[in-house]
Amino acid sequence: MRLRNINGSREIIADSPFVIHEPEQYKGKMKELFQNQHPLHIEIGMGKGKFIMELASLHPEINYIGIEKYSSVLLRAIQKMEQNELPNLKFIRMDAEDITNVFDEGEVDRIYLNFSDPWPKDRHAKRRLPSKEFLARYDVILIKEGKLEFKTDNKDLFDFALEQLPLAGWEAEKVTFDLHHDEEMNQGNIMTEYEERFSALGNPICKYIIHRSK
Ligand code: SAM
Repeated sequence: MRLRNINGSREIIADSPFVIHEPEQYKGKMKELFQNQHPLHIEIGMGKGKFIMELASLHPEINYIGIEKYSSVLLRAIQKMEQNELPNLKFIRMDAEDITNVFDEGEVDRIYLNFSDPWPKDRHAKRRLPSKEFLARYDVILIKEGKLEFKTDNKDLFDFALEQLPLAGWEAEKVTFDLHHDEEMNQGNIMTEYEERFSALGNPICKYIIHRSK
């Protein structure tokens, strides 16, 4: 996914009206940016933005923010927004490790993680977006009754993600190891770019929807 050496991507991002610049300044005030009181849903590690752009166009009653670490990848999402502008979607270029500096307590209504990087080495487990360390960050920014949805074709990462839940005070309300053959959970499913790629290879897609344990 990482597209290196795209000349000028940082400059284009710096000038883009679709990007929230210096997002720490809007902590607790994200709704002001959208000029409405709609709920806020975020996707962390959105890549080129296919999933969140389709969601945002289907749900004008929800505000969306797509978060991506790499400028060269975010650039692709900005280019798509230039072709098809969505007033309820904005982007932030940041490392999600800093997410509690950008969103206030309970400022986010739902979180999506899709095909997060696996970081297969044990010593990098803390960098995995569904790790207990990240769940603790999501615990701060997500409303009390908020939900988090995670999809991946990486069974090891998914097993790890399930194991992390009780350690971090979360529980699964829905789980599937084969989303595309799960009639209930697949209803209304929006495919991500990676989901299209890996399901075309025959890989089953795992998904959970989780909330905090009562
Ligand atoms: N979600 C997209 C999809 O399903 O098609 C992209 C998946 S890609 C494997 C993972 C993306 O997450 C990459 O674009 C990567 O740069 C981004 N990412 C990984 N770790 C991140 C982090 N800590 N903060 C923000 N973005 C991150």
